[in-house]
Amino acid sequence: MADREKIPVAALNPVPAAAGVQGVTLLGATGSIGASTLDVITRHPERFRVAALTAQTRVTELAALCVTHRPALAVIGDPAREATLRELLQRAGSTTRVSSGPDGLLEAAQLAQAQTVVAAIVGAAGLLPTLAAARAGKRLLLANKEAIVCAGSLLLEAVRAGGAPLLPVDSEHNAVHQCLSGAATHAGVRRLVLTASGGPFRQRTDFTGVTPEEACAHPNWRMGPKISVDSATLMNKGLEVIEASWLFGMPRDRIDVVVHPQSVIHSMVEFGDGSVLAQMGTPDMRTPIAYCLGFPERIDSGSASLDFTRLGPLHFEAPDLDRFPCLGLAYRALDAGPAASILLNASNEVAVEAFLDGRLPFAAIAGVISEVLDSESPAAPASVDGVLEIDAAARRRARQAVARTAPGRS
Ligand code: NAD
Ligand code: MG
Repeated sequence: MADREKIPVAALNPVPAAAGVQGVTLLGATGSIGASTLDVITRHPERFRVAALTAQTRVTELAALCVTHRPALAVIGDPAREATLRELLQRAGSTTRVSSGPDGLLEAAQLAQAQTVVAAIVGAAGLLPTLAAARAGKRLLLANKEAIVCAGSLLLEAVRAGGAPLLPVDSEHNAVHQCLSGAATHAGVRRLVLTASGGPFRQRTDFTGVTPEEACAHPNWRMGPKISVDSATLMNKGLEVIEASWLFGMPRDRIDVVVHPQSVIHSMVEFGDGSVLAQMGTPDMRTPIAYCLGFPERIDSGSASLDFTRLGPLHFEAPDLDRFPCLGLAYRALDAGPAASILLNASNEVAVEAFLDGRLPFAAIAGVISEVLDSESPAAPASVDGVLEIDAAARRRARQAVARTAPGRS
């Protein structure tokens, strides 16, 4: 905890205005954040050039993006698809170089042609390339919250060593960053208030028979399947509390969560004098992405203006920890120390994947995570290998718990 309070992210490194055309590498280009980022980049050809694009399996989509954006390098995470990517690009007359697998992802993260790396891979799978980008001194636009949840201290150290800034893409943390106006410390801050939409089940009381389609039907945001399920369980907010504790050097009792179904206020900062600053806007990830890409300048994102005359009342309520136990589990993990956050994140990834595959009921997700938190209590890892070991052990435990919870379904 002392570690967290020592190095709030805004104090890590100064953020100079970018000079000339910035090369941007996009880790996770075929996802929802990937698409929004490419949309913003395309609006500013005088400012940004795509340096590298990566995807895990969607080789046809990746090839099409390469034809449009002409990066120097394209990486497909699954090495079995490298030949197909090469063939598709050759056929299209593309000069983009091709690579694959974990080494390819690391190469993309450190590519000399990029000054900025957007970390938009989903899950702990994004940890190594995100760390590599930070260490290589790339300006890091962090969407991959799981990376900071499972290796907060290591990631902040890497950012500090690399000497380039970290800017939070996650809309809540981006809102806090905006409200702090780049303040170098959190002195004078009374608390952070993270808003949560409440997800598609805000008013639901019976979670039997919830389908992946229902869980992914978010009322305000269009996102990838994993974060959509996390929003439905409120685990997303739990991960974000942990993310905020690292990014802003805040203890848990100064990070509040309030449910705000309209998703117009993206988060708030309350100062010691009682002032509360809120960042508002239409729910569109292009806004925080454009903020990070342009920082410290403001650039057009393509998002719609907020129409206050049509907004109607803004509603706020406390989160219901009985109906959404995942948020309580995240608090428990945060209190238990850094290793518990790895257990929380890994077991959640396994449980969410099982739910999306139809192998685990929605209502059993929290039970799997709770079982893993109960059964393992490793010491705080001192290295990335330590993080990966705890992550792997938690995944094994979680898979056993899934198999036991839903026998015959796996
Ligand atoms: P997504 O599922 O739409 O896209 C994920 C991307 O990661 C894809 O390009 C995929 O190819 C790649 N990927 C998946 N598994 C991989 C692996 N094992 N190795 C390498 N690449 C892999 O997800 P998303 O909604 O774009 O979210 C991406 C990240 O951003 C997540 O960490 C999420 O929590 C965070 N985030 C998303 C939103 C949003 O609005 N979508 C908002 C805030 C934060
Ligand atoms: Mg968020």
